[in-house]
Amino acid sequence: MLRQALLALSASTKTRDLIMATPVTRDVVARFVAGETAEEAMAVTGRLVADGRLVTIDFLGEDTTDPDQAARVADEYISLIGQLAAAGLAGHGRAEVSVKPTAVGLGLAEHGDKTALEHIGRIATAARNAGTTVTLDMEDHARVDATLRLVGELRADFPDLGCVIQSYLHRSPADCRDLAVAGSRVRLCKGAYQAPADVGLASRAEVDLNYARCMRILLDGPGYPMLATHDPRMIRIAGVKAGTTGREAGSFEYQMLYGIRPAEQARLAAVGAQMRVYLPYGTDWYGYLVRRLAERPSNLAFFLRALGSRR
Ligand SMILES: Cc1cc2nc3c(=O)[nH]c(=O)nc-3n(C[C@H](O)[C@H](O)[C@H](O)COP(=O)(O)OP(=O)(O)OC[C@H]3O[C@@H](n4cnc5c(N)ncnc54)[C@H](O)[C@@H]3O)c2cc1C
Repeated sequence: MLRQALLALSASTKTRDLIMATPVTRDVVARFVAGETAEEAMAVTGRLVADGRLVTIDFLGEDTTDPDQAARVADEYISLIGQLAAAGLAGHGRAEVSVKPTAVGLGLAEHGDKTALEHIGRIATAARNAGTTVTLDMEDHARVDATLRLVGELRADFPDLGCVIQSYLHRSPADCRDLAVAGSRVRLCKGAYQAPADVGLASRAEVDLNYARCMRILLDGPGYPMLATHDPRMIRIAGVKAGTTGREAGSFEYQMLYGIRPAEQARLAAVGAQMRVYLPYGTDWYGYLVRRLAERPSNLAFFLRALGSRR
């Protein structure tokens, strides 16, 4: 209930303006967001890479309705990739980028698919030249088909383009089977959005079960699974499954969000696993923050305590 109410709030412009204008929000945001500028994101990336972690950087923003804004987002990514390359952080995919298709135009009223295809192609070209990769985030259930179509088209030129499957959707095991092919980089997450009952699974237990099912399909296949979860049970199952299928540590990776379970991130990196941190930056952090609060009541409590302490 609380999760649904919070996710619904993420679409309210009134609440958004109120929360973004509250000074204390910034302290909470700082826990999950690396900063407002590319320079701040680069500094955190440098520290994480020096500490043995991999990084995927997200320039915050989504649901772009203006074609010029979509172009600006793509330009920002290209500039960021140039800075990563100059700093020696891009090589071997140490730091890559994550892109939301609707941030680069997928949701535009006219020619959304074509615009997103063009911009992601530009970003993927810059990434390839820098020795790194791009992963397309997955957004709400209504975007899944269009996003997977984009992935299919773009992979003809950029076979290492990563995509995301969310285990809260009924369809995901079938999508995993289609995507579990050689060289295919697939991030598996539980999903941070809501879907109607005929499309999405209702209970956490079902979502978890589907996660384990999808993970098995991906780990059994010849692709490159990227297991994005903070859930200790899923991480345990992944370790056991990787062991029984004889997967080398370099043939898959764990992924976690910046600011969440950093000690577990460090532990996995220290035992030789590939551990990638999803690192968001930018000023458009509202939707991202609300999804993090909705995932975990204690984050909401942290936020409310911070608000209360300023009164
Ligand atoms: C690298 C990465 C990329 C992602 N990309 C996408 C995407 O493209 N599309 C999409 O829909 N979703 C994406 N997500 C979000 C994901 O779908 C989940 O909403 C989120 O990861 C929480 O699920 P969980 O697997 O950690 O399990 P949960 O069952 O939610 O949590 C398990 C445990 O993890 C810890 N935890 C989880 N969330 C939090 C939190 N917010 N704060 C503090 N502790 C927490 C707690 O210990 C909790 O008990 C991504 C997540 C990661 C890690």
